[in-house]
Amino acid sequence: MVKVAVVGASGGIGQPLSLLLKLNPYVSELALYDVRLAKGVAQDLSHISTNAECRGYDKEEIGQALKGAQVVLIPAGVPRKPGMTRDDLFKINAGIVRGICSSIAQYCPSARVLVISNPVNSTVPIAAETLKAAGCFSAGNVMGVTTLDVVRAETFLADYLNASKRGGLTRQFDKTRMQKDVTVIGGHSGTTIVPVLLGSSLNAALGAEYGKFVHRVQFGGDEVVKAKEGAGSATLSMALAGYRFAEQVLRSIHRESTDPLPAFVYLPGLENGSAAQKKLKDTVDYFALPITLVDGRAAKVDSTVLDRLSAQEHQLVERAVLELSTSIQKGTGFVVGGSKL
Ligand code: ADP
Repeated sequence: MVKVAVVGASGGIGQPLSLLLKLNPYVSELALYDVRLAKGVAQDLSHISTNAECRGYDKEEIGQALKGAQVVLIPAGVPRKPGMTRDDLFKINAGIVRGICSSIAQYCPSARVLVISNPVNSTVPIAAETLKAAGCFSAGNVMGVTTLDVVRAETFLADYLNASKRGGLTRQFDKTRMQKDVTVIGGHSGTTIVPVLLGSSLNAALGAEYGKFVHRVQFGGDEVVKAKEGAGSATLSMALAGYRFAEQVLRSIHRESTDPLPAFVYLPGLENGSAAQKKLKDTVDYFALPITLVDGRAAKVDSTVLDRLSAQEHQLVERAVLELSTSIQKGTGFVVGGSKL
């Protein structure tokens, strides 16, 4: 049985994510922390007739929320307000993630930490460096959640293939069974997101739609912001994606078989990580690749996916690492003041 903490539980992602976790039979204790309203969200969820004990914790109670947590999910952050630059937003969210990770180091240093707060390409290095500075970093424990990119890739690929029926493909693609057809590697924003088709016939089947497919996976978040008329971003699909990843972590803790979902991880600390880095020409320390979970922690990455890239995917990776290395340095520099540990 597992204590799971959600930090940022009252937000647009935090609330539906907490709801989904309340339904998971492996969660014995669900600790909801936020700087506002977490007790209310917890009270609401506590009326649901599942066995997870749900408690809310106020701003000053992060220690109690985190104490004994084996899994911590972090969707905390602030939305961009008018007049705020991207850099202002980065600094605020970076500070929030650093503060939360300092508390994790203090109260649950061996917890699996699932980072959802954006920009993940920078907040994961921030989490890692904060834990390193506190002397409790373990590469397998820190996982940037990129599952929304996978969820979108599965949806859009099925949509395009079912609509096109090209390349002699006559089967109907089931959106719930697309894992064998597509995965997503790289980072978690814009052109750092690289969808990878796993079947050789799929590229031909997509034909001229390939470019549109890639663009929708990379910039799907913008479609949601636009449709919500700027008043919000992807929260429900992100909550589902975060839950899908957390569910695998919980299954792994309970020695159940898991799916090889990608996560944005620190390569040097993981099995096959340095092989992956070599294939990426030693450009980046962090990269999203399918991972194998052991006891709910990233144990190894699947670097073979990098051997099977098409020429177009190869180009996408080359472009991705350029932007990624800047974002990673930005995150690392935020914690260690410009010098790389
Ligand atoms: P999103 O749509 O990304 O979920 P929201 O702004 O709706 O964005 O939610 C973010 C949540 O994070 C808010 O409930 C906010 O109160 C919370 N939050 C902000 N700072 C912190 C912090 N330091 N610790 C915990 N939660 C925080």
